[in-house]
Amino acid sequence: MIGASIAYFLSRRGVTTTVIESTGLACAASGKSGGFLALDWCDGTPLQMLARRSFALHSRLVDEIDGNWGYRRLTTYGGSAGLGQRGAAYDIGWLSAGVNVNHRLGSTDTTAQVHPEKFTAAMMQAAEAQGAKLRLGRVTRVVRRKGGAAAAGVEVEGEVVEGEAVVIAMGPWSILAAEWLPLPAVFGLKGHSLLFETGREVPAEALFLECREASGAVQTPELFPRGDGTTYVCAISSESLVPVDPARVAPDPGAIDRLRVMCSEISPALATAKILARQACYRPVAPDGLPLIGPIIGVEGAYIATGHSVWGILNAPATGEAVAELIVDGTARSVDLSPFAPARFPPFDPARLNRILAKN
Ligand SMILES: Cc1cc2nc3c(=O)[nH]c(=O)nc-3n(C[C@H](O)[C@H](O)[C@H](O)COP(=O)(O)OP(=O)(O)OC[C@H]3O[C@@H](n4cnc5c(N)ncnc54)[C@H](O)[C@@H]3O)c2cc1C
Repeated sequence: MIGASIAYFLSRRGVTTTVIESTGLACAASGKSGGFLALDWCDGTPLQMLARRSFALHSRLVDEIDGNWGYRRLTTYGGSAGLGQRGAAYDIGWLSAGVNVNHRLGSTDTTAQVHPEKFTAAMMQAAEAQGAKLRLGRVTRVVRRKGGAAAAGVEVEGEVVEGEAVVIAMGPWSILAAEWLPLPAVFGLKGHSLLFETGREVPAEALFLECREASGAVQTPELFPRGDGTTYVCAISSESLVPVDPARVAPDPGAIDRLRVMCSEISPALATAKILARQACYRPVAPDGLPLIGPIIGVEGAYIATGHSVWGILNAPATGEAVAELIVDGTARSVDLSPFAPARFPPFDPARLNRILAKN
């Protein structure tokens, strides 16, 4: 999503871009996430400006580019199940009687959604329509100019793809680039999800719940009914190591069954619906939880854009726009990128990376 968005905004500035994807467009979190968007949930944090700009861009992109990626406004509620709380303020008809929905977290002015896989594809196609290319292949190295102080392209499975600028936007796999460039650490935080075929009767209402499992563990499932008649539910995070090959990401043992039980308790509609996807993916996370967006100090023409954690779909358009400004104009004008400067962390030690990879 981040790579496709950067390519789209660069292509609008007349810059020819190649997105290099090892495994499949939106094969990872960008295709398997909730796609929930919020205008003001990052207010009061360093993400405020990026999130507000991005929420506005999402709404504008509907008129700017071709395709249908399920963008729609939502009402969003919060509540609990199995925690013994009483006093539901909202009657959400498709939920079980034991689910207590007691706050409205957002309105159609402040919350929205996209189908993230379709949105990524639409942004990539819009970039391609203006000259960008999508190339399948694994990046194995950043190529430097003589003397090493500037990037000259990347190596893709033995072949050099030249470029005046290189942006590392490999989500949690960006850590692998610490072997090629002085980059901070990026971790992966795994999440599990189910996609149900629920039909069109489920209203455009997103839900953020707290639920107690039989084991006593409290989970925070997020439910996003989509306009295409499916309902996406995610929960159960774990800190397992990201496999080097994105194609090898798989759910933790037992996690999908636990999520299915939780969903059956939340709604009879989910208990009986066909399950279309059982999946896991990793949020890319920097040590302070904020994105890493900006130039890589010491290597001219090298940039990073990752670490968007739980808000990568929301914040992708404003990230793409700002990175395009940074590359073309030398500075980002649409948002203040200073809180996301990669140089706020020391580079991750490549020797440590190699020790981690040896265990992977
Ligand atoms: C369960 C879950 C739910 C979420 N829900 C939401 C939500 O509702 N709203 C929201 O805003 N965000 C949400 N997120 C967060 C969001 O999905 C991520 O922040 C975002 O998708 C990250 O996008 P990315 O492009 O940085 O990384 P990714 O989507 O991980 O993409 C990185 C790409 O790099 C490729 N790659 C890796 N190594 C190489 C290599 N060597 N060469 C070439 N390509 C390579 C991979 O194949 C992959 O396609 C959620 C995340 C999870 C896990």
